[in-house]
Amino acid sequence: MSNLNKLKERFSELKKFKYINNLLQWDQQVYMPDGSIQDRSSLIELISKISHKRLISNKTKVLINKAEKINDLNLIDSAIFREAKREYEKAIKIPTDLVIEIAKTSILGHDAWKKARNKKKFTIFKPFLAKMIELQKEYADRLDIGQSRYDTLLDDYEPGATSEWISKIFNYLSKHIKEILNKLKNSAEKLDQSILKKKYDPKKQWEFSLEIIKTLGFNFNIGRQDKSTHPFTVSLSPNDVRITTRILESFLPACLFGSIHECGHALYDMGFMKAIHNTNLAGGASLGFHESQSRLWENIIGKSKEFWHYWYPKLQELFPENLKNYSEDNFYKSINSVKPSLIRVEADEVTYSLHIILRFEIENLIFNDKVEVSELPQLWNEKTETLLDLKIPDDSKGILQDVHWSGGAFGYFPTYCLGNLYAAQLYDSILKKDLVLKEKISNGNFLDLLNYLKKDVHQYGRIYHPKELIKKITGKNLNPDYYIDYLKQKYYQIHSIN
Ligand code: ZN
Repeated sequence: MSNLNKLKERFSELKKFKYINNLLQWDQQVYMPDGSIQDRSSLIELISKISHKRLISNKTKVLINKAEKINDLNLIDSAIFREAKREYEKAIKIPTDLVIEIAKTSILGHDAWKKARNKKKFTIFKPFLAKMIELQKEYADRLDIGQSRYDTLLDDYEPGATSEWISKIFNYLSKHIKEILNKLKNSAEKLDQSILKKKYDPKKQWEFSLEIIKTLGFNFNIGRQDKSTHPFTVSLSPNDVRITTRILESFLPACLFGSIHECGHALYDMGFMKAIHNTNLAGGASLGFHESQSRLWENIIGKSKEFWHYWYPKLQELFPENLKNYSEDNFYKSINSVKPSLIRVEADEVTYSLHIILRFEIENLIFNDKVEVSELPQLWNEKTETLLDLKIPDDSKGILQDVHWSGGAFGYFPTYCLGNLYAAQLYDSILKKDLVLKEKISNGNFLDLLNYLKKDVHQYGRIYHPKELIKKITGKNLNPDYYIDYLKQKYYQIHSIN
């Protein structure tokens, strides 16, 4: 076997360790009994330890050094090498003890976070958060690949992103969002969500979600949907993609848009070209790009007029009692009502980015040593007032609302917002190629859109980095104007603003 093939095999095996880890985590969230958490965490710890040791071993080092000397690698092989080297060079800087310490703290932290959130008491979570922040600082200091600690952390989720680049984009975005919000506030059109808060039979909600994702192109032969408290997507291979959703009897959007969102992630993971299955390129270009796919399907498509022109009659037939007095237009407007709210995951498309900007600003302060852990709840509350003009009643609706920090995922949040921006820019380029795409969607043809996404985005997996990929597809760097224009067009039309 050639040295290159040996390197490929090594990283293909490491990828399989990740799939095994994913399976353990999927089971933990879908089926595992509550009392099994300690034993499960020891399995996850073992797998993480074995794969980290293999990654940083001398054998890996030798294979990378030999592969480095090979000239004229083709596109796929050179990307496999690039990613292998990147992963190896990061991993050797981190001692296995630190990896294990982070994994342990994240499991205990998650437990403490759940308790703290239920009891609405930040102090329960505080020592775990403080420890996790210290560990992440050490992690970033050891890696030291960015201009700042926070840049180093960002690189794990969005290769090539820096806090300066994101700051610029976010400042510009928040200025425009405030302008849009002001206009909407002064408009006469008042929307409300009461239609969505009636009682909807959970069984029917579940069946409807399955019908939708099947029509969008989710392949049940290599994937399945289950239920969990927090919806998510994981892959056990490109031919085994799992999604989950949650059903709330008195809030229709939870299951409906949760399923469409995760389906968007799954379609990406199911769409890699065969040549990169079983390689370290079988993943999204970045988390931001992954989020662009879920958000494109959930919001740009799933909350569009065209989409509901096709689906509303079916939904009405399923829930005649609830919906008989509401038109397609009533429904469209209610799923798109805009109102600043406290909880990120329940936020509308217009205010959503403000929640991300808040988290981004706080994370920056944390990793520049400009704020103490004990000051964080207060800081969260102040920023909520500045950005959303709302008061936080208790920490469960403030700093304790998200799971991410308990697991040490700092630098993750910005990718949600970048996802919105990538999605708008991608969709714009597709609409320019296919002038009748919206008509197709209103007739229930979603597969043409899926095929554009497969061809432009999905098939490549991680062959390209996000900045390269968006330029390759659209001819331009990431530009927030596409998203801003999309918001203005959609919401000014809903509110009859010129
Ligand atoms: Zn997502």
